[in-house]
Amino acid sequence: RAKATIGQTTAYYEARMDEQVRQRRALTKDLWTAIAQDQFRLHYQVQKAVATGEVTGYEALLRWQSPERGNVPPADFIPLAESCGAILPLGDWVLRAACREAAGWPSACKIAVNLSPLQLSQPDFVARLAAILTETGLSPQRLELEITESTIIADRERALATLRDIKALGVTVAIDDFGTGYSSLETLRSFPFDKIKLDRSFMTEVETSPQAKAIVRAILALGRSLDVPVLAEGVETADQLDLLAREGCDEAQGYLLGRPQPVGAIAGLKRMVAPALAPEERGGLVAD
Ligand code: C2E
Ligand code: MG
Ligand code: MG
Ligand code: MG
Repeated sequence: RAKATIGQTTAYYEARMDEQVRQRRALTKDLWTAIAQDQFRLHYQVQKAVATGEVTGYEALLRWQSPERGNVPPADFIPLAESCGAILPLGDWVLRAACREAAGWPSACKIAVNLSPLQLSQPDFVARLAAILTETGLSPQRLELEITESTIIADRERALATLRDIKALGVTVAIDDFGTGYSSLETLRSFPFDKIKLDRSFMTEVETSPQAKAIVRAILALGRSLDVPVLAEGVETADQLDLLAREGCDEAQGYLLGRPQPVGAIAGLKRMVAPALAPEERGGLVAD
């Protein structure tokens, strides 16, 4: 009897695993189709200076609008795209689309783009990045690449060398989801990041947990002493923003300040028409 139950349980788990494998395969297949069929869009979420409320930049966030599956959240497909390699063409697309979009904005604010570990590990990544900047005409100083600590764990020395080459282009580098990794302090010691993005999990607890508040304070102090600005992610309430202002946090991002939206919905980012020809190619015939 007991044996039969174990047998049935095992069979049940096997069936469930088969089902998971099947679903992953189907999602992977749809992902590649989606890339071929251009089913991806970018939304943009504002980043602001806490002290002045001034817009400092926008983070580009990937959206998959699948005709079959509806809107698939990044958490459901980015890890899969990473493991099947689809993140390479997808990441290239994100970078190019975000740079092209931002190059047409009336404001010279930053555009922040998330970078996955696999992208950074491509031997020709810096060359690709340089080509995209040239192609889109975006000033490198306006681009900020966001990486998480997991990105530099795998092949540390090579990753850090690539990051140095990226900075040499004039592109800045932010450490994303800071405080959740295993080696936060070591990471900060190894590389001159341009920004620390404090993970959203701290904001959810900052008002209720003295520990979370103490850690936020400590990270802000760390940023100040290293001369690296800190941006708080996931700011949803005015109380959280007040606390950040009191504690001297540099920047904030979150639903309170603005949700990720298609660019057309963001006032102040009305796209300028990009000139079809460079001024020197227009031969002075077309007035600006
Ligand atoms: P992330 O880079 O940490 O992006 C911030 C995430 O927090 C976004 O989720 C954003 O919508 C969400 N968020 C912003 N403010 C708030 C808030 O006040 N409250 C709450 N609850 N959430 C907030 P999203 O767009 O679902 O993206 C999730 C993650 O997927 C991103 O986390 C990033 O790691 C990844 N991702 C998104 N786009 C890309 C991309 O183009 N490339 C790569 N490699 N990863 C991406
Ligand atoms: Mg990010
Ligand atoms: Mg983040
Ligand atoms: Mg996060």
